Amino acid sequence: MSKGKVYLIGAGPGDPGLLTLKGRECLEQAEVVIYDYLANPVLLSLAPNAEQVYVGKNRGKHSLPQEEINQLLVDHAATGKKVARLKGGDPYVFGRGGEEAAFLHQNNIPFEVVPGVTAGFAAAAYAGIPLTHRDVTTSVAMLTGHERPDRKLSSIDWDKLANGVGTLIFYMGMTNLGFICSELIKHGRSPETPVAVVQWATLPRQKTLVGTLTTISNDVVKNSIEPPAVIIIGDVVNYRDELRWYDNLPLFGRCFLLTRPREQVAGFAQQLQQQGAETICIPTIEIAPPKSWQPLDDALKELSSFDSLILTSANGVDNLFKRLAANDMDVRCLAGIQIVPVGTKTAQAIECHGIRPDLIPKDFRAEGILEALQEQGIAGKRFLYPRAEVVRPLLLEKLKEAGGEVVAPVAYRTIRPEKGEEMIRHLLEAGEIDAICLSSSSTFNNLQAMLGNDLKPLLGETKLFSIGPLTSDTIRNYGCEVTLEPEASTVDDLVSTIIDYYKTFKNS
Ligand code: SAH
Repeated sequence: MSKGKVYLIGAGPGDPGLLTLKGRECLEQAEVVIYDYLANPVLLSLAPNAEQVYVGKNRGKHSLPQEEINQLLVDHAATGKKVARLKGGDPYVFGRGGEEAAFLHQNNIPFEVVPGVTAGFAAAAYAGIPLTHRDVTTSVAMLTGHERPDRKLSSIDWDKLANGVGTLIFYMGMTNLGFICSELIKHGRSPETPVAVVQWATLPRQKTLVGTLTTISNDVVKNSIEPPAVIIIGDVVNYRDELRWYDNLPLFGRCFLLTRPREQVAGFAQQLQQQGAETICIPTIEIAPPKSWQPLDDALKELSSFDSLILTSANGVDNLFKRLAANDMDVRCLAGIQIVPVGTKTAQAIECHGIRPDLIPKDFRAEGILEALQEQGIAGKRFLYPRAEVVRPLLLEKLKEAGGEVVAPVAYRTIRPEKGEEMIRHLLEAGEIDAICLSSSSTFNNLQAMLGNDLKPLLGETKLFSIGPLTSDTIRNYGCEVTLEPEASTVDDLVSTIIDYYKTFKNS
């Protein structure tokens, strides 16, 4: 059997967007991923079929000794597999990557190293601290603040460090912070030198504390800042006041629970994250195929007899095209039929298939579709309306009343996922969620079904954000309060309404 290969990959400091393109490529191709405590587990979703092995360690509490990790790498690679060794930050910066590579070399296992964004650099960038600045300093040193206990930082030449280097970045220095500061002062660094401690850098839970060599170790205790954190020492820290940007983002520090189906949540989550928010995605609905495809298939066979095709969700669109393909048909069969999506998102889903919708209503609801169709005349026309299993009867009834003929086969069902309830309970109990975002009545109904009568007490201070009037009605009918609802029922509008809400909140 040919030997496998090990890729020592820098996962970056936390923000998944800071993984390199090469790192992503290696993960996607990996058959085994061996990952650490500080590598963001979200990155594992890039290797869904790989075997995943956690060897994390947390502040001295090694869950697996280094020698065993080394051996594990060799053993997996020896079976011919591509092994991704995912390490926090950069593999060759205080990550024992050098030891792992050396062991692979000794065992004749081929390896490559993919650099990552190291925590010190990332912390500086996300805290608004340029590590070098022509006016202030031209040199930077990276140091470990936690040497082997027997050495107690003895290999650091404090005299040279205190006087010879501008910016100092200490990794793993939190337990020795007092010692580090006093050594620097003792060897001639000004006690007023600014110091920043950046905890959980690049993640929405990032905390930055600024003090001086004299004050910082008490400040850290007072503010309960714990590892993982990097310590940045030097006059460059003063730029933070002007240059901070991450913890100034409008949704920084907020945590939202997103309940939409897995397939549809990525764009929404990303928009919130770009504004600094933390998002937790636990779907309360799942999209499932109809119990039978027969009614939709039958309708597709007589496609040319319809005047209009009404589509009210991206799921409907996706399943319609799946069934066209399953019936050996394609978009050409839709020629001559007026295509009416309920709103811009459904329109985009249609456009992905190379079709430009004919008519987008102003009001993104069944009422809007009806109004738009009424303007053209309904009597005598045939409408195909591939729909969800459970829908409001309005559109069907009104089209019929107006003399139209409607064929409305079920194109998908929404069901309640089996997993997730316990996690939602836990998060609400811990008070970790600022708001739950609800993108349809069923997302709320299922949430309610999952938590039963516990829902209201569990919510506590947690707010409910609704995508539009129908969802809001469902929430209010149950007796809960809706904190905000955008004017237009779109995700983009919901995000900007959330931003506005917190702006007012901050200013009040
Ligand atoms: N190889 C890693 C460093 C591993 S040593 C890298 O290049 O970043 C572990 C130390 O890194 C922690 O004690 C802490 O000082 C720092 N660290 C890692 N991730 C961090 C984060 N997100 N925020 C702040 N410090 C972090």
